[in-house]
Amino acid sequence: MEGVSLKGNGTWRDAICPFHPDTKPSLRVKIETGAFSCMACGAHGGGVVAFHMRLHKLNFKVAVMALGAWVGGVR
Ligand SMILES: [Zn+2]
Repeated sequence: MEGVSLKGNGTWRDAICPFHPDTKPSLRVKIETGAFSCMACGAHGGGVVAFHMRLHKLNFKVAVMALGAWVGGVR
């Protein structure tokens, strides 16, 4: 995921949280879905779109468009 390097094996990986000044990997990321949850600052979401929204403070549509996943619709 953007701005994050994942550590470990298995479904849930650890990463340095980009949402607060993290010094140890507090962010848990489920690689199958992109769901994430930070044990330290409480940032959480259900997938890569939510992650991107939170990281860049975007609304859902803008985040989806930025990820190149907006299909059809109004620009
Ligand atoms: Zn955090």
